[in-house]
Amino acid sequence: MSVIPSNEKTYGIYVHIPFCKAKCKYCAFVSTSDASLQKAYVSALVSEISNSLNDGARVDTVYIGGGTPSCLFCGGLTDIFSALRKRFDVMPSAEVTVECNPESVDDRFIGECVDCGVNRISMGLQSASDDVLTAVGRIHKYADYIAAVEMLSATFDNISSDLILGLPQQDLRDVDRAVDIISRYCSHASVYALTVENGTPLYAQGYKPDDDMIADMYDIAFARLGKNGFERYEVSNFARDGKRSSHNIKYWRYAPYIGFGVAAHGFDGDSTRFAHGDDISDYITDTKPKAYSLTQKDKYNEYVMLALRTADGISLSDYEKRFGNSFTAENDGILTRLVDGGYVAVSDDRVKIADKYLFVMNGIIEQLMKD
Ligand code: SF4
Repeated sequence: MSVIPSNEKTYGIYVHIPFCKAKCKYCAFVSTSDASLQKAYVSALVSEISNSLNDGARVDTVYIGGGTPSCLFCGGLTDIFSALRKRFDVMPSAEVTVECNPESVDDRFIGECVDCGVNRISMGLQSASDDVLTAVGRIHKYADYIAAVEMLSATFDNISSDLILGLPQQDLRDVDRAVDIISRYCSHASVYALTVENGTPLYAQGYKPDDDMIADMYDIAFARLGKNGFERYEVSNFARDGKRSSHNIKYWRYAPYIGFGVAAHGFDGDSTRFAHGDDISDYITDTKPKAYSLTQKDKYNEYVMLALRTADGISLSDYEKRFGNSFTAENDGILTRLVDGGYVAVSDDRVKIADKYLFVMNGIIEQLMKD
């Protein structure tokens, strides 16, 4: 049962689907290639959604992520959406996203998405090279991505694709090619630097990405996407024709969202976060997330870190409304140094990291964190 107090807020909803056809070698998400628990898992999800305390809450974004939601059994998405729409007031204008991977996109999946009111698709490409895809255990080929995105684009005009930088055997040409194909079919791109997490096969192999190479890859992706009409609105996210991800923007703007499913998180938009555990079987027997309170310092650090990832930066008026203080007055000395060094810009209602430093923002953000 989700335990976010009901009020006048408009929520985002995230639902985690922890199933994939195969496990990628870099993957640290909660997901399994064992499909035997799918039906029991969806029943648990439906039960958690149906018992949520936020009965009737207004919802303007729904994001079904994973994992690979497109490999769910026929009717699984329908059960989830029907529970969501019964429990919540999902607005007619809501952004409704489902993630998928090329190997499980077919007419059946697309038809079910349409019937469920899905209006945005996010699909993993990760690389345009079959050698790279094979090296990291992806089970689709580049040609499968093309076939899938062609099918999807006949129905959806809001498609996002992911690209990872720093994969084994990847080179600058691969990034170029991947960005080109994304630009041809998609209005949104997510471009992430690979993090090799402990516990993944890539970590066990001792693979270490080359940071300088990743920086060059990012520069290529940034320049090419810009040339193709995409604006960078967050360090890893690019949109064309105004198709920013409203759901992800909620995370960066510290807005409330409800998380359903194993490993899913929620936030009341103020001072309480909710977290589900990481074990699928445990979730099936007990769907209740744990709640934990944020201190003033936690809230400040999270808010500042998330906002500075975005091209819009911190809204000074929103900060003042939320924290009751002036951000610029509180950080006077350090802000002056950062502005003088050209790292940060302060203008009107905004404090932002200078464009050229957004990809290497961590060192700048750290200076604004509270101990
Ligand atoms: S498809 Fe995504 S979630 Fe599934 S194993 Fe690969 S990286 Fe992980």
